[in-house]
Amino acid sequence: MTPDIRPLVAGNWKMNGLRSDLDQIKAIADSIDAELAEKIDILLCPPMTLLYVATALAEDTALLVGAQDCHTSQSGAHTGDVSAQMIADCLGEFAIVGHSERRTDHGEDDATVKAKAQAAISADLTAIVCIGETEEERKSGRTLEVLGRQLEGSVPGGATAETVVIAYEPVWAIGTGLTPTPADIEEAHAFMRRTLADRYGAEGEKMRLLYGGSVKPGNASELMAIANVDGALVGGASLKAVDFLAICEAYR
Ligand code: PGA
Repeated sequence: MTPDIRPLVAGNWKMNGLRSDLDQIKAIADSIDAELAEKIDILLCPPMTLLYVATALAEDTALLVGAQDCHTSQSGAHTGDVSAQMIADCLGEFAIVGHSERRTDHGEDDATVKAKAQAAISADLTAIVCIGETEEERKSGRTLEVLGRQLEGSVPGGATAETVVIAYEPVWAIGTGLTPTPADIEEAHAFMRRTLADRYGAEGEKMRLLYGGSVKPGNASELMAIANVDGALVGGASLKAVDFLAICEAYR
């Protein structure tokens, strides 16, 4: 936690979620009471196919809705892609960019991620820029070097605390049940804070830094208490409303 920074707990459904799962989104939206909504932002990023229905279910509730990716352009001849403008048009408010699964599956490099973040910001979305080291990079002691390079390469120059959220997700912790030690997370987040403050001044001091990778109801309180951890990006444990809400409860 960072004093004066409003935490954000974000769910990333990845390529999961059919119409029959809309009841989970409704359950999350309907369960956020005023007390919790006053303390934190809660965001769900379903697959694009459910985005518009999700924003309708979230209407008049405190639940925020976003997408898991966006294109670098706002329209044009890009078969199968979805632009940030289209996400905003469906009343989405966030776009995750640079998730390690997209970096791997689609060969997205830092320059592409930065262009996507810029496109998201141009469409009035908040970009959640994901960074994180691989197992090999951690074992060879290069974690902070990798994070520094990814922050430099993936975060747009004019980023502000309103327009950009950073998600630190060690690749080896995603979907594995493994997490870094609290000391390792603290070190990574302190490094990100210093780097962003050097580059963006007061905006960097206020930017939300999420931790992601095997966040579960059982470890959320411990992880969220670490200095400079301003929330979570949750994959598997966001699919069931009861689990996702239990993680949010860490902030009550
Ligand atoms: P996980 O995924 O919570 O299932 O580890 C996190 C993520 O990829 O955002």
